[in-house]
Formats: sequence, structure tokens, C-alpha cells
Amino acid sequence: IEQYDLIIVGGGPIGLACAIEAQKKKLKYLIIEKGAIVNSIFNYPLYMTFFSTAERLEIGDIPFNCLAPKPGRQEALEYYRNIHRYFNFSIHLFENVTQVIKQDNSLFKITTNKALYEAKNVIIATGFYDIPIYMNVKGEELPQVRHYYKEAHEYAFRNVLVVGANNSSVDAALECWRKGANVTMVIRKSEINNRVKYWVKPDIENRIAEGSIKAYFESNIAEIREDEVVIDTPNGKITIESDFVLALTGYKPDLTFLEKMGIQLSDNEKRVPTYNPETMETNVAGLFLAGVVCGGMETHKWFIENSRVHANMIVDCITSK
Ligand code: FAD
Repeated sequence: IEQYDLIIVGGGPIGLACAIEAQKKKLKYLIIEKGAIVNSIFNYPLYMTFFSTAERLEIGDIPFNCLAPKPGRQEALEYYRNIHRYFNFSIHLFENVTQVIKQDNSLFKITTNKALYEAKNVIIATGFYDIPIYMNVKGEELPQVRHYYKEAHEYAFRNVLVVGANNSSVDAALECWRKGANVTMVIRKSEINNRVKYWVKPDIENRIAEGSIKAYFESNIAEIREDEVVIDTPNGKITIESDFVLALTGYKPDLTFLEKMGIQLSDNEKRVPTYNPETMETNVAGLFLAGVVCGGMETHKWFIENSRVHANMIVDCITSK
């Protein structure tokens, strides 16, 4: 079995940031990524614009060239690919980590779909974009219901129901409407989420106010059928025609994966993992969390710009041991 000082699970921006620090400190490390490099960003909507300005997405002090103040998905992919060209990481792509166990000899055993490894330290930087938060309503499994949105073309000239009022839902609703879809939003609360990008929020609010996009506030989907959806509104149940449902109701980290490694999660609905905020070390010595995975269900608290510092904190902790 190949042995490492450090194995990093996840090749997102923060996993890469950790690798840069490990490389600087000459640790023998390996990144294991189950998909393409920065796989979450690869899976973002094609034309999404980051809410962060380019310099806040930078890692390893490498400048992020971008003409507009805020980059889009394609530029971010370009940037992080160049990061790999520059640092030439030790990385295995398309390899899925299925188990991390601390053995009696205090080395971790890391099992993937392809091999076994041992490491003195492990960083979990697996993000939160792989598991949608389901609505748990009848019909959610129908093929016209989507939990990820890519682009608008398919929805043009169709009746599209968008669930949610966060950035993903609002971006999708506006884009689909501009490409000719008949868009209805179903929103649990009484207004558009305050975290919606500040330059997008007036756009959606005005489209709703003028009636271009219909919105049912304080409402939930009750049932999805082949060509219609039942909505629970404050004025009772209504049924509307619908060809597609974009249920962009959020995503969550793989909490079961963390629990199986022995990481304790908070008892409340936030399910925040236990870690030392100065070192990012969990209650399992030598096992660290980096990036947005550390927020548990509070996924909105962490982004690239405020979690890239985890890389330094963790590698400092490892090298000072
Ligand atoms: P991720 O980028 O999610 O990386 C985790 C990686 O781990 C993935 O590549 C995944 O494939 C891999 N992985 C997961 N499980 C395994 C496994 N078992 N084995 C191997 N590999 C595994 N943040 C900002 O700072 N600014 C923004 O403007 C911004 N916009 C966003 C827009 C959208 C649509 C979304 C969804 C998020 C946005 N975020 C933004 C938040 C963003 O998710 C994170 O900031 C960033 O992707 C987090 O990086 P990460 O490395 O922690 O996790």
C-alpha cells in the first residue's frame, strides 16, 4: 500500500489550495477527486456568474485574469486548470473515495473504487454540491423534475416551474424567461432571499411585479404529475400546467460519509461537524475539514473566499506536529 503524509479528498478549489500548501512544505501528498478537476464548478449552470470578484477566488497567490469584475464558470475552469498546469499537482482524477478509517497504528486507510492508500493525515474537502436537498413530494422522481440546472434552451417555449428563491432558482428563472419560457416560481417564504446577488435581486423583483414571471409566495409544491403541478398556496391548493420542474432547493454535504469516519455532527438540524476552528482538525486526530463541507447544512456560510485560508491553517498544524 502506497503511504502518504497527507491525502486530500476532493479536487475543488479548496482541495487544490491545500495541495499548494502541502507542496510548499514538501509533504508527500495526493489529491483524490471523483470527477474532473474542480468538478463542482464544472457542474454549475453553463452561464453562471460568480458573486465573488476574481481576486477572491484566487489560490496560491496566482492572479486570476478576468476582464469583467466577476468571472463566469468558463473563466473559473480556465483559471483552476492553469493552477494545475502551474503547480503540477499529485492528483488522481475520476477516483472515488469510499471509506476513510483510522487504524490502530494511527495511520488512515483510504479506500477508493480503484486502490487502497495509507496516510498520516487526511483532509476532507468534498464540498456540498453532490447531494440535492429533496422536497420529498409525490412525483419528484419524474423525469421532468430537475435538481440541477444547466442552461435555458431546453425550457424555451415550455411551462417551467422553478422552486426556491435563492441564487440558483432566481438565475434559472430569469434565464429561462429571457429565452422564451413561461416561468412560474413557487417560493416557501414571503419574499426573494436576501442572499440573492445584489445586482440580480431587483431584476427578479421587477419581473415578478410586472407579471412577466409569476410567483406564488408562502407556497409549496404538493404533488407533481406528468403535465401539471399541484401547489399549496395561502389561498388553498391550485393546479397549473407544467412541462418541467426546476427544484433548485439547495444541496448538502455527504454527512453520512463524515459520520462513518467518526466525525461528530451537532445534534440540531444544522448538523455542523466538530472541528477546531484554529486548525480545522476534527474530533478524529489527523483528520481535517477544508472548504464548504465544514458548514454542515449551513452551506451558505462558506465560500471560496472565506475558506481558502483553511489550507494554511491545516498544513501549519500538520507540519508543527
Ligand atoms: P467543491 O468545489 O464542491 O469541491 C469538492 C470536490 O470534492 C468536488 O470536485 C467533488 O467531486 C469532490 N468529491 C466529493 N466527494 C468525493 C469523494 N468521495 N471522493 C473523491 N472526491 C470527492 N463560492 C464563492 O466563493 N464565490 C461564488 O461566487 C460562488 N458561487 C457559487 C455558485 C454556485 C452555483 C454554487 C453551487 C456554489 C457557489 N459558491 C461560490 C460556493 C462554492 O461551492 C464553493 O465556494 C466552492 O466550490 C467550494 O470549494 P470546495 O473545494 O470546498 O468544494
